[in-house]
Amino acid sequence: MQSLIPHDPQPAATLGEGEFAVESELSILRDVFRMLPTGVTVQDEHGQFLLVNDAAAAQLGMVAGQPPVLVSKPLSDRREVGLELLRAGRSLVAEECVTGRQGKQVFLTAHRPVRIADRNLLLSNSTDISEQKAVEDHLFRSAYFDELTGLPMRRVIEHRANSLIQRDELRGRFALAFLDIDNFKHINDYYGHAIGDGLLIEVAKRLGLDLRESDMLSRISGDEFMLLLNPIQNEREVAEYIQATLQRLKAPFFIDGSEIFTSTSIGVSFFPEHGRSYDTLRQNADIAMYRVKNDGKGAAAFFDAGMEREALARMKVEQSLRLAILEKRFCCAFQAKVDIRTQDIMGIEALVRLRDDEGVIQAPGTFINLAVELGLIDELTHLVLAEIVKSIDLINETFGPNTCISMNVAAKQAGNPEFMRSFAQALEATGFPGRFMIEVTEDAFVAKTHFQAEILPIFRKLGVGISIDDFGTGYSSLSALADITADEIKIDRSFITDIHLRPRSQGILRAIESLSEALGMTVVAEGIETFEELAYLQAATRIRYAQGFYFSRPIFLDELRPAVPLASEARVSLASRSPQQSRPTHSRPERARR
Ligand code: C2E
Ligand code: MG
Ligand code: MG
Repeated sequence: MQSLIPHDPQPAATLGEGEFAVESELSILRDVFRMLPTGVTVQDEHGQFLLVNDAAAAQLGMVAGQPPVLVSKPLSDRREVGLELLRAGRSLVAEECVTGRQGKQVFLTAHRPVRIADRNLLLSNSTDISEQKAVEDHLFRSAYFDELTGLPMRRVIEHRANSLIQRDELRGRFALAFLDIDNFKHINDYYGHAIGDGLLIEVAKRLGLDLRESDMLSRISGDEFMLLLNPIQNEREVAEYIQATLQRLKAPFFIDGSEIFTSTSIGVSFFPEHGRSYDTLRQNADIAMYRVKNDGKGAAAFFDAGMEREALARMKVEQSLRLAILEKRFCCAFQAKVDIRTQDIMGIEALVRLRDDEGVIQAPGTFINLAVELGLIDELTHLVLAEIVKSIDLINETFGPNTCISMNVAAKQAGNPEFMRSFAQALEATGFPGRFMIEVTEDAFVAKTHFQAEILPIFRKLGVGISIDDFGTGYSSLSALADITADEIKIDRSFITDIHLRPRSQGILRAIESLSEALGMTVVAEGIETFEELAYLQAATRIRYAQGFYFSRPIFLDELRPAVPLASEARVSLASRSPQQSRPTHSRPERARR
């Protein structure tokens, strides 16, 4: 203790018993005071220290054995305040003080003017609250800052934008840009989450490169960032900045030895033209970004009123889709897969249809992507399966009791082990899982590690076949063939249309054909519409199977029943049709019309 309490020079042994007890008590008190974990000081009116215990000496940076002098500037300033209070006869004051000594230390000090033995003194006690502060700081950071990138989170940028809007003196404009990394899910699936995280960190760094003090960049969720550019002079200035940002994000990223290319879609809205609240501005920037995604990604767009109308229309479709699912207003059309050598039906494909609010039948082109986007597709797929199970007797009567039934599964679903497991269970529960084939587009195989290792074996065990749909249009093409053990490959209609007139498509077809043969996969040509296309396939290829309007459009089984009292014979055959016949316009299998 750096104490100014005078030590009694007399040795304890010379004292009387009573005096000894007092001295001993005083010595204990002195030691207790010295060792108190809280820093305690007593100062007179002139700031002179009368008592300083060890903790206070350490906090104040006093050197042991030397007269107590304040070293830490902020502390001495604060003490001045305390002394002034003392002189003014005011009571307790508490304060927090941060010192740079020993890292960053925070003290909570209470100064209390006291009157002892007719003297006005300042009694101060300080506690080191660095630890609590660190916890508070951590809690604050995790509530407002993203752990991965260190960027402020959504609520911070929201607060910032709203306070800019509310500031009375604000006459200026600002821009809010919504950024979304394109195909981030593919990158995550393909390279793994660690590299995905690495990419987000690098993107955040590039985005933050030349921001001004008054701008703000925030990560608002997964691969979405929000940029507030404030102030701005005009749209051209923002356009130039955004273009430069787009370019910067297109340059390759090197993460953990992988070279990753990506792009970003950006939508921008302006205050005050496009909204007077953060929510409206964000929503409009999002609408503009959505337009970019639809138009091919990797670009930027400014919001405009036309987009708003589009978004409203989309919202309407969205609502009616949700309602349709709730009311189970879906049905299935079935299209035959035909053996082009014998014209036998070797399978059927279930194609979902929606009966809209007005009872009009809608093809999936209008709603499948939306259903995927809205997370409704899993439910829809289960509805399709339920419809098949409900119609199984009719399917058997119409197409034969052993016909293979193909169902489409969206790429997103195929990469989702949870859904695929529940779907496999539902297929097993039908009692005839071995009759099913699931059609998945190549995009699903980007996450091939999941698919091949985890999902495929489940379906294999049930005897469910796997088909690669729309082959040639997707993301991974030939590499998918090498990695995925599928049973069937369906060549996309874009290769088949006018195949007899297109030597390049013919070459591609031959290559796919021999590759599939080598890998033991059945090839199906999709979208045969004309006799010439069929004739080419029959004459110039070894392809056995095809699907297309030439043979049959997708049909509703219900339509068949009243029109055709089906005989008990099982198999529907198209063999009676001569290939020379012109393109049929019917919408039912040949046999059904007889
Ligand atoms: P897809 O699986 O490739 O199905 C073939 C599509 O081509 C069907 O369109 C079919 O009607 C059409 N088509 C068949 N032959 C011809 C032809 O000769 N000419 C022309 N122009 N088109 C032909 P649809 O029914 O509109 O389905 C479109 C896509 O929607 C399907 O393509 C499939 O990817 C998806 N889809 C259909 N049902 C479902 C489903 O239940 N779930 C999922 N996830 N997707 C589905
Ligand atoms: Mg299909
Ligand atoms: Mg297809």
